Amino acid sequence: MSSNLRSQGGLVVISGPSGVGKSTICSDVSKRLDKAYLSISVTTRAKGSLEKDGMEYRFVSKEEFDKHIEQGMLLEYAEVFGSYYGTPKKKIYDALAAGKIVILEIDVQGGKQIKQLYPSAVMIFILPPDRDDLAERMNHRGRGENQDNAARRLNDADIEISAAWEYYDHMVINENLEQAVEETLDIIHESFGDK
Ligand code: 5GP
Repeated sequence: MSSNLRSQGGLVVISGPSGVGKSTICSDVSKRLDKAYLSISVTTRAKGSLEKDGMEYRFVSKEEFDKHIEQGMLLEYAEVFGSYYGTPKKKIYDALAAGKIVILEIDVQGGKQIKQLYPSAVMIFILPPDRDDLAERMNHRGRGENQDNAARRLNDADIEISAAWEYYDHMVINENLEQAVEETLDIIHESFGDK
């Protein structure tokens, strides 16, 4: 990456199937980088009982989400599991201008859009050690969702994994959380230098 782009920060996209531990990896990684900004997406998904608005997501109505699209406020957006998710543009621009490493935890449809907008974005895909492990983790997430929904997420996970080979440069297997965090940090440091 050129020194000019370096001074403008950099984008890291982290994707992976539901339940693979992306959120924990993203939050640990951003805490351990000097200058990181972990993007907070807007979503039309219902807020889980343990979630707080404005922490991991900003929960909005479909009308509000559509307004965000109309007003060009989203850098990318996609429909995932029947809900809409999008990355607010302004915060990302501000963080990049401040020289930060911006971390986007988004799905592969969003990842593809970001890669097209920013070819220098570092694309990391988190994989489960194996499929049974993924099913097991999804069953213990406590989203209180029914079996059909859980099965759908598992099927979508297979589709997401096969799509990933096309757009993602780095694969990290989350067998051990600390190791997965270290590997992700190594990829970021190698890509952007020590920020
Ligand atoms: P969850 O509802 O389980 O937190 O997230 C469902 C999926 O939506 C995950 O794959 C997550 O990475 C993705 N996601 C979260 N925020 C965004 C976003 O802003 N844009 C896109 N494209 N996907 C997102």
